Amino acid sequence: MNSDNKTILKGMDINELNHWCSSNNFDQFRAKQIYQWLYLHGVDSSSRMHNLPKEYQKHISESCTLSTLEMVSKTVSENKKTIKYLFKTIDSNFIESVSMIDENGRHTVCVSSQSGCNVGCDFCATADMGLMKNLSSGEIIDQLIIIRSLSDKPINNVVYMGMGEPFLNYNNVIKSADILNDEKGFNISVNKITISTAGIVPKIIKFIDQKISYRLAISLNASNDLVRTNIMPINKKWPISDLININKLYSKQYKRKKITFEYVIMDGVNSSVKDAIDLAEILSSAKCKINIIPYNETDGKYKRPSDITINKFIKTLSLHNNDNFQILVRWSNGLDIDAGCGQLAISNNIKEE
Ligand code: SAH
Ligand code: SF4
Repeated sequence: MNSDNKTILKGMDINELNHWCSSNNFDQFRAKQIYQWLYLHGVDSSSRMHNLPKEYQKHISESCTLSTLEMVSKTVSENKKTIKYLFKTIDSNFIESVSMIDENGRHTVCVSSQSGCNVGCDFCATADMGLMKNLSSGEIIDQLIIIRSLSDKPINNVVYMGMGEPFLNYNNVIKSADILNDEKGFNISVNKITISTAGIVPKIIKFIDQKISYRLAISLNASNDLVRTNIMPINKKWPISDLININKLYSKQYKRKKITFEYVIMDGVNSSVKDAIDLAEILSSAKCKINIIPYNETDGKYKRPSDITINKFIKTLSLHNNDNFQILVRWSNGLDIDAGCGQLAISNNIKEE
C-alpha cells in the first residue's frame, strides 16, 4: 500500500498477482496477463491493458498504483554513450541509475538497490548519504522499465552496482532479479545479471546455498586486511579470508561459473607492485575473475593512479598468475557526468527538497 491506500502492483511476482486477483474477484488467468503488462510491456496505465475487460481496467486504476518512480532528470555524457538518470520514489527518496552503451552497441544498466548506503566505504560517494531506504523490488524494476522506454537499444545487461548494498536488501533484490530473468518478465539471461556486494558474508552463503545463478561480484579492493579495514570498515566483521573461503565454496558449487572480485585501484592506497603480488597470492586458492576498476575521483581524498601505475599493476598481477584468475579492466564510462562507479550520490539540495 502507498500513502493513497492504493496497492502497489509493480514488484509483485506471479504468485502475489494470483493472490491479488483472487482477493479482487478477478479470474485467475488474469494474473498472467497483468504480469506481462507490468514487466514485458511496462505499461504505466491500466487503460493500456487491452486484453482486460474495461471494468477490470477501471478497478486497477482506482485501487492500484502502477509506477513507483518518477524521472527527475537525465544527464547525457559528452560522447552520448552514458546517461545518468535521477529518479524520485513515491515516498520522496532519490536514486540514480546509469545506462551505458559500449563500443559494440551493448546496453548495460547499472541499478540502485537502496537509496544511499550505510556500509561506509571511505572512498565511495554514496556512503556520504547514509541509508535513506531499501528499495522495493518494484522500485528496482521501474528503473529498468523507464530506461527501456526511453532508450532505442534493448537492455542486454543489468548490474546491481548503483547506489546501495544489494545484500542488505537481499529479498527485494533477488525477487527483482527473478522478474528480470523471467521470460514473461524481462527475459534477461542469468549470466547477464550481476549482483555486486561489499561482502555481506551470511547473505553470500545464503545466495550460494539457494543455488542462485545470477553472476556474483565481490568488492575486494585490497590485498591485505589492514588496507581493506581502512577503506571498508565492513572488513572488521568479514575479513579477506572469509571472502577467499567463499570463493572456494562457490567454485565447488558452481562448476562453470566464477566469482568476479572487484578491485578499485586508488593511488598510493592499493596500487603498488607489492599489492599486485599479494593480490595474485590471495587469489590463487580457487578460480575466479578479478576486475580492476581505476578509481573515479569524488571528493579529492583518494586519487586515481596514473595509467602507467595501473598498467604496471596489471602487468605484475598477470606475471604472478598461475592460470588461476582472469584479469579484466574496467575503464569507466561517463566520468564527465559523475556516472562512474561509486560516483552516484544525491547532492544535499535535492535531498532537502
Ligand atoms: N555496494 C555494492 C554495489 C555498489 S558499489 C558494492 O560495494 O559492491 C559498486 C562498485 O563500485 C564496487 O565495486 C565499489 O567498490 C565500486 N566503487 C565505489 N566507489 C568507487 C569509485 N569512486 N570509483 C570506482 N569504483 C568505485
Ligand atoms: Fe555502499 Fe558499495 Fe559504496 Fe561501499 S562501495 S558504501 S557498500 S555502495
